[in-house]
Amino acid sequence: DFDVVTLGETMVSLRTTAPIRFPAALEATPAGAESNVAIGLARLGHRVRWISRLGADPWGDAIVAALRGEGVDVHVARDAGRPTGLMTLAQRTADRAVVEYRRAGSAASALSADDLGGLGSPRILHLTGITPALSASAADACLEAARRVRDASGLVSLDVNHRRLLWSAEEARLGLRELGGLADIVIGGEEELELLGDSPESLLETASVVVAKRGADGAEAWSRDEHVTATGHRVTVVDPVGAGDGFCAGFLSGLLDGLPLGECLGRGNTVGAFAVGHVGDWQGYPSRDELTLLRAADPTAR
Ligand code: ATP
Repeated sequence: DFDVVTLGETMVSLRTTAPIRFPAALEATPAGAESNVAIGLARLGHRVRWISRLGADPWGDAIVAALRGEGVDVHVARDAGRPTGLMTLAQRTADRAVVEYRRAGSAASALSADDLGGLGSPRILHLTGITPALSASAADACLEAARRVRDASGLVSLDVNHRRLLWSAEEARLGLRELGGLADIVIGGEEELELLGDSPESLLETASVVVAKRGADGAEAWSRDEHVTATGHRVTVVDPVGAGDGFCAGFLSGLLDGLPLGECLGRGNTVGAFAVGHVGDWQGYPSRDELTLLRAADPTAR
């Protein structure tokens, strides 16, 4: 069985450093929160499977090839009747980008509980609050996967990941209520955690760990007997996208390795720092032997 199974939509991201209306070269790369986490975990040496649906189109082929190349086990259905989702990302300044989605009616929006054949009994199932926003059947797939993994004594991890382009805060609050109650590990920014409960501590009624991501300041976690914080690394930000997913990969990697909670946060901060220091969502994530690189006294070991 896999260390981690994750489930969700991956799109092709068409990225440019100019506004979209200017003729500019577009770089095509896979983009999906859950597959980003899968790549982050695979780079750290964990066995990870990604479950999804893709169109039977070359965009889908590109996503499969990239993820397999990163060592992720790809378990996808190819749907001839629906396209792979696309998004455009126009980088306007180093830390501001304009995103547009072409994902309504995508292959992944038809995800359903019928796609869970490859779920097995992972140690951790990682979900995000994006998938339930795609469709009722995708929301159902998340709930069913969470129930099955819990029944098999695995842990369910949920990154709230509120996407305002998909649903409002009120819709997300309602749409994530049941799934939030099934999560052992809840991760989000401060405002995202407020969608699930009055305070991080209040979520410990159902979760065993709650993690708040705090950008450059690092992260904070609560468990039933601990409250720990870990400061972020000082790095030059060239692209903030993918930091949160990188953080999740590092944090879950620490849990899989049995590290104390504070060190799990530390590993999350390390992967998050690599993510913001590199252009692209996941391309900059570290391998296991690079985890100590940010602490090296000599920035260019030679
Ligand atoms: P995303 O932009 O991917 O949605 P997010 O909003 O989910 O990110 P953030 O809190 O911005 O999450 O970042 C996640 C983690 O990445 C932080 O907890 C931290 O570890 C790291 N990180 C983010 N920004 C910086 C930064 N400027 N410097 C160092 N580390 C950072």
